[in-house]
Amino acid sequence: MPKVTVYSTKSCPYCRMVKAFLERQGVPYISIDVGTDKEQAKKMVEISGQYGVPVTTVDDEVIVGFDAQRLNELFGDEKTGELYDVLIIGAGPAGLTAGVYCARKLLKTLIISENIGGQAIESWSIENYMGFPKIQHRYRGSLPGTGRDPRAGETSPNPGD
Ligand SMILES: Cc1cc2nc3c(=O)[nH]c(=O)nc-3n(C[C@H](O)[C@H](O)[C@H](O)COP(=O)(O)OP(=O)(O)OC[C@H]3O[C@@H](n4cnc5c(N)ncnc54)[C@H](O)[C@@H]3O)c2cc1C
Repeated sequence: MPKVTVYSTKSCPYCRMVKAFLERQGVPYISIDVGTDKEQAKKMVEISGQYGVPVTTVDDEVIVGFDAQRLNELFGDEKTGELYDVLIIGAGPAGLTAGVYCARKLLKTLIISENIGGQAIESWSIENYMGFPKIQHRYRGSLPGTGRDPRAGETSPNPGD
């Protein structure tokens, strides 16, 4: 087994993705927090030629960032056959969105569906795309029948509020 070291910081999401991948594949690794260890941070810059995290070393090879393709080449499991991490039934907007984000997290994902697009393929015009700035203003008014006033950029102090 090669010697694997991950140089990371606590707040870096791509560092978590590298570690999650290695853990899922059962690859032991040494984790170094360059946010607190200045000597190791210097070493990381020396070996990678840059300041960004994550940096993963596999023996003498240096991998900068979350390089899913290279990590898969090195540690991907060719024997998984028909085993999947996630099974999604339905390829409407919900299933396709879930599939995209599962794949981005390197989860082996299978979507089974009667069709691709769901109800959206019957619609001649999609009038609202959740999260896009042009439509957010529609949801800033009171929710019908609730008297609630949801506002973008605010968080509720109570999850049930
Ligand atoms: C004519 C029309 C116009 C619309 N216009 C708008 C609009 O303008 N704006 C908007 O926001 N929304 C609109 N909608 C609603 C929007 O399309 C739905 O809210 C959205 O598609 C729901 O997404 P979903 O992924 O949850 O489910 P669905 O889109 O219903 O997708 C479910 C998927 O699962 C599959 N499936 C179900 N059961 C099985 C099974 N047993 N095995 C395999 N596959 C299965 C289906 O074939 C489908 O692909 C419209 C809907 C219609 C019908």
